Amino acid sequence: MVNKSTHEVVLEASHVSMVFNAGTPNEVVAFRNISFELRQGEILAIVGPSGCGKSTLFNVIAGLLQPTSGSVRVDGALVDGASGHIGYMLQKDLLLPWRSVLDNVMLGLEVRGVEPKEARERALSLIRRYGLDGFESAMPRALSGGMRQRVAFMRTLALNPKAILLDEPFSALDFQRRLNLQGDVKRIIREQHKAAILVTHDIGEAIAMADRVLVLSQRPGTIKAIHTIELGDETDPGALRRSTAFNEYFDVIWSELDALVEPVPA
Ligand code: ADP
Repeated sequence: MVNKSTHEVVLEASHVSMVFNAGTPNEVVAFRNISFELRQGEILAIVGPSGCGKSTLFNVIAGLLQPTSGSVRVDGALVDGASGHIGYMLQKDLLLPWRSVLDNVMLGLEVRGVEPKEARERALSLIRRYGLDGFESAMPRALSGGMRQRVAFMRTLALNPKAILLDEPFSALDFQRRLNLQGDVKRIIREQHKAAILVTHDIGEAIAMADRVLVLSQRPGTIKAIHTIELGDETDPGALRRSTAFNEYFDVIWSELDALVEPVPA
């Protein structure tokens, strides 16, 4: 749980709305009046029914789309175009197949012009610390899906972003790997004093990883609820999911989302 009084606000979304094709017959209001803060060390999950605007909101936060109204600030500065302050972890790892693990992790640093020796040291220290020790020279094709995602995460971390956006990054993995990687990514985000926003349709993933879960309504998406998650110190993914607290959160959020889903016609 993040201590609100001592952790600085890293990212602030203020009354953000997004309308596509405004003023035309094809107008689509994706979401409306979304406001929240993200503090250092915190993970905020965003869940909502399909089409409620999660991906669009992700793109707005990332600076890839300009909101119709409202603002997103990182460290107090307006997000305007993709910037180095925000890192991503996506469903596709986008590793370059002809580069080794080490060279993939160093990629962003190279692009930024970081001196090669420093880039190598930074990349190696992350690789060794977070479960890829011994795989520095391995090529992506030799790795499991979970390890590839780990490399992608290291590549993001190496750039030292203020906030990390996680867009369904575990959804292509099998169940066991997914649970383990969720736990590891959560721990690493804490350890590295990062802040992250997780967009997912998996309620369990949101509860297991996040300090707060923001539930969006059906389109146009508005904030229906924000739940503060307090699960104690359990780190084992299986035990966590069997705990009473986990299941209580699950039931509440499930009911909220279920109430939003249109009934299937008989
Ligand atoms: P989600 O990720 O929650 O499934 P999206 O953000 O993909 O939802 O989409 C929200 C709504 O905005 C949908 O109705 C979608 O059709 C619409 N939309 C998304 N992108 C565009 C676009 N470029 N032009 C017009 N409508 C769009």
